[in-house]
Amino acid sequence: MRIDLHTHSSVSDGTDVPETLVRNAVDAGLDVIALTDHDTFDGWNAAVAAGREHGLTVLGGVEISTGLRGAAVHVLGYLPDPGFGPLVTELQQIRAHRNGRLTTIIERLNRVGVHITRQDVLAVASRASSLGRPHVADALMARGYVRNRGEAFDNWLAEGGPAFVPKYAPPTAEAIALVQRAGGVAVLAHPWGRSSRRVLTPTAVEALAGAGLAGLEVDHDDHDQADRDELRALAADLGLIVTGSSDHHGTGKIGHELGRNTTAPEQYERLLDLAGRGSAGAGGSEPAGETSGGAA
Ligand code: AMP
Ligand code: ZN
Ligand code: FE
Ligand code: FE
Repeated sequence: MRIDLHTHSSVSDGTDVPETLVRNAVDAGLDVIALTDHDTFDGWNAAVAAGREHGLTVLGGVEISTGLRGAAVHVLGYLPDPGFGPLVTELQQIRAHRNGRLTTIIERLNRVGVHITRQDVLAVASRASSLGRPHVADALMARGYVRNRGEAFDNWLAEGGPAFVPKYAPPTAEAIALVQRAGGVAVLAHPWGRSSRRVLTPTAVEALAGAGLAGLEVDHDDHDQADRDELRALAADLGLIVTGSSDHHGTGKIGHELGRNTTAPEQYERLLDLAGRGSAGAGGSEPAGETSGGAA
């Protein structure tokens, strides 16, 4: 069984609509994916329906933008109740700030002589409910300023760049607790990737485990073999689940093909058990891909 627990659709900054993402996952030989768009559940219904049609299990997930000691930390939430008010409200808040930040990013670009408009960005982000820098990068591509997203980040959008604008992010421990209260399972995304490595020391991870963290995304392309070995040992020490994923963004991020890293079936079972969806769990009769609706 091949399981990829971190993918993005064009509902956030992936380039494929959820239906296409699901078809591509089937073609890549996957049996299970989690749709983990940034700060939104809006792709769940379409992805789960497409999964049912094509024989792929789709877990509803989300990648929440959080902050810890000034660094960006991404928290993956699996199978939270999409109707849980406090989580819904927090995600709405993050998306509203993303939307406002877009205006500031565009103003800064205009000030350094790069002429794009909000309309340009919205035109390339028609399916998106969660707007981010990659959409600005796509608009810059469409206007002929750059050849790919990476160039736009390098020239203007990355931290320290002339059009970088930080975004609102709830504290990491609070987001983890919200996922848990919503009945979901919280896993740290690419913990030793560029932005979060500095703050996610073993001591900090232990503290987050105390706040309800259930797992670490160990097998991710942000981690080299030494990182993976250390993170796997840390997960074992703390009793945390180990996951693996592609962090696929369609054509938006090179080197992140679907299924590039996967999650071991026994780790996936642990995750389902924690979400109450395991074969022995309370929701055992319900397939893991079913969501209780209300995600749209
Ligand atoms: P935002 O959510 O607006 O802060 O944008 C961050 C997102 O941009 C990340 O989640 C990545 O998906 C993407 N990203 C960051 N750096 C790059 C890059 N150099 N090239 C392409 N995409 C990137
Ligand atoms: Zn992304
Ligand atoms: Fe991320
Ligand atoms: Fe991601």
